[in-house]
Amino acid sequence: METFRKTVTVNTSKEGEMIDITGELREAIAASKMSNGLACMFVPHSTAALITIEYEPGLQGDIKKALDRIIPKDTEYGHHLMWGDGNGHSHVRSSFLGASLTVPFHEGEADLGTWQQVVLVELDVRRRDRKVVIQLIGE
Ligand code: ZN
Repeated sequence: METFRKTVTVNTSKEGEMIDITGELREAIAASKMSNGLACMFVPHSTAALITIEYEPGLQGDIKKALDRIIPKDTEYGHHLMWGDGNGHSHVRSSFLGASLTVPFHEGEADLGTWQQVVLVELDVRRRDRKVVIQLIGE
């Protein structure tokens, strides 16, 4: 059993932006020289998330609208009262969507569906430089 680790930086430009990082996962699997195992992708941030979606503009808009309905911006957040940074909804959205994904890989290929991409979601109220840790375990 071996491990391989890669950290990538993703520069976001605005709240709600979704960036396809599937290529980064595929590059990490290739660079590891492993054939089979698990790839864990993790964002060490509390106002960003990793999801899988079919990466197309219609669905990106649908996710944004769903987040606005489920976890609206214009309501009271204890985090605002504590810090006044106006991103309570960003933290809650991040917690609900999740900071990590585990993707199995087999014969050197990620087990993603044909229309399934790995996407970083910027949830903060301003642009940020995001780290994504890609940790592989396998053989
Ligand atoms: Zn905050």
